[in-house]
Amino acid sequence: MAKTLRVIDAHAHLGECCVFGLVSTEEELVRRMDESGIDATIVQPYPGAKNAAETHDRIADLCAKYPGRFFGLASVSPHGSHEAYRREVERCVRELGFVGVKLHTIGHAVNPLSEDGDLVFATAHHLGIPAMVHTGPGMPFALPSLCIPAAQKYPGLKIILAHAGFAVFSAEAQVAASVCGNLYLETSWCIGEDIRWMISTIGSDRVMMGADLPSNVPVEVAKYKALDLEPEVYNKVMGGNAIDVFKLSS
Ligand SMILES: [Zn+2]
Repeated sequence: MAKTLRVIDAHAHLGECCVFGLVSTEEELVRRMDESGIDATIVQPYPGAKNAAETHDRIADLCAKYPGRFFGLASVSPHGSHEAYRREVERCVRELGFVGVKLHTIGHAVNPLSEDGDLVFATAHHLGIPAMVHTGPGMPFALPSLCIPAAQKYPGLKIILAHAGFAVFSAEAQVAASVCGNLYLETSWCIGEDIRWMISTIGSDRVMMGADLPSNVPVEVAKYKALDLEPEVYNKVMGGNAIDVFKLSS
């Protein structure tokens, strides 16, 4: 029987990455989740996947092998044919049951303000799924404020700022989220006190834990535990918000 979802890692990758020189395996993801008490993880290809569609299939296999423990998130460069882009993301959502799509500002070299950037937001909006955007390293494209126009153009679209500015631009991520109620902050690689600051500024409903890399899972969990948050707030940021935003169910 599937267990009740409580603790969610909103940001993980499977496969290899020729952009960042990384590789993550199914075994590593499962081991780190077990070690750190993560109930479910949202998994996407790295932007440097040699074949994003094949990695989407591999993620779907992982989701099928561990029902309720993994959810897929599509990530493919929008710089090729727009029709092919829409078809692959639609396949991920309608056929593979994926719960979101990624706009990778640095890994895919996408300016959120460009036509190809808009394709990602428009596709997510059309399919009724949230869009996650890489923020932090990789400016100017990765500046959190560049998501404000899309958040205003698509008020019904939930946009998750991955890494919430990655410490150095966390204040900007927080300002962007203060301006737009449909911007959410996933806090991998942020400073613990910045996370507390985000929660106190924009409230506890739009901040969520993510780890990005398997070896960072225990670190991010420890960071949140060290903040001594009220139990109600802790439960939201550690999983409740991701469950609501990505409509996860076990
Ligand atoms: Zn990532």
